[in-house]
Amino acid sequence: MKKKYLLAPGPTPVPEHVSLEMALPMQHHRTPQFSKIFGEAAEGAQYLFQTKQDVLILASTGTGAMEGCVTNLFSAGDKVLVINGGKFGERWGKISETYGLKVVWHSVEWGQGADAKEIESILAQDKEIKAIMVQASETSTTAAHPIEALSKLTRDRDDILLIVDGITGVGVFNLPMDEWGIDAMVTGSQKALELPPGLALVSLSEKAWKFANQSTTPRFYFDFKKERKNLADKTSAYTPAVSLVAGLRVVLRDLQEEGLENVFKRHNRLARATRAAVQAMGLTMVAPDSPADSATGVFVPEGVDGGKLVKSLRDDFGVTLAGGQDQWKGKVVRIAHLGYVDTFDIIIAISALEMALKKFGAQVQLGKGVAAAQEILLEAY
Ligand SMILES: *Cc1c(COP(=O)(O)O)cnc(C)c1O
Repeated sequence: MKKKYLLAPGPTPVPEHVSLEMALPMQHHRTPQFSKIFGEAAEGAQYLFQTKQDVLILASTGTGAMEGCVTNLFSAGDKVLVINGGKFGERWGKISETYGLKVVWHSVEWGQGADAKEIESILAQDKEIKAIMVQASETSTTAAHPIEALSKLTRDRDDILLIVDGITGVGVFNLPMDEWGIDAMVTGSQKALELPPGLALVSLSEKAWKFANQSTTPRFYFDFKKERKNLADKTSAYTPAVSLVAGLRVVLRDLQEEGLENVFKRHNRLARATRAAVQAMGLTMVAPDSPADSATGVFVPEGVDGGKLVKSLRDDFGVTLAGGQDQWKGKVVRIAHLGYVDTFDIIIAISALEMALKKFGAQVQLGKGVAAAQEILLEAY
């Protein structure tokens, strides 16, 4: 017998009562009964995004909504600034190039957050740039980018948008869309939203909707204006992901009950506990200067094969963490602490990592990381 624990940054664990809600008999989507559910989910999403704007609910993964931002807001030849600090930053650029946008690539060293001052000087020298595209939390490196500082560069100009991939930021830490003036924000169901993969949420500012009127990019499925029109009737243009939307309504109701501020505090506490634990274990964080509250990455000790370590954690210990990608393949382990995750999930992740590292011959004193985490986790009680 092996009990399994999922502690990777997506998909994340789904609460049992949410699974049960999604297991209810299928219902038809063009009905007043389902419209009520859809409408409540969309309203809950406005609370989540801290916006008065519509939040579109799309049947796709997060990347679909990222692509939709590109195709709905820009046209071939438009110039955009992509902050590329990892796999997902790179994705903004690849999507944009696919549709003929001119991408100004701004590379940020993996594990670092962007420097808003540098971005400010790039924008000052090039007035043709129509957007900053960025991640709130670059999941591949566990680093956060300074969204509030970036919003100050775009919010008072009507010719540039701030486009935020908030897929591991929304519902983890504070990203008040209206207050900061974020122009487009995206999230997906399988990260902080405690659901299976398959839903993307996206909201646009008034300024972004004006850009949408100018865009000439061909599009069919991801047509935000069409979706907004349907949302007014509490439905979507095509068949909504009925079960996932039913689950989303429950998750967002729970979230409103906990209160966003408490949700952020919980994630921050789990993040701080994880950071304290890995440091007590003598491990080096991959994003020490600008760590996101969604996941913590560490370099595996010299002489340990990170790929084998993650595989053994999963197959021998039953604990799924994430490894490193691309240049960090085999060198990094990432512990996620977002979504349906609480105190004792962190204890499991840290104790399993200690045991697995010891098994692989690394110098670890068992319990040292766990104790450091406990000190911080105890704050909640
Ligand atoms: C997971 C993730 C994505 C990709 O989402 P999909 O649901 O796989 O399309 C994009 N950006 C970030 C920051 C993510 O964490």
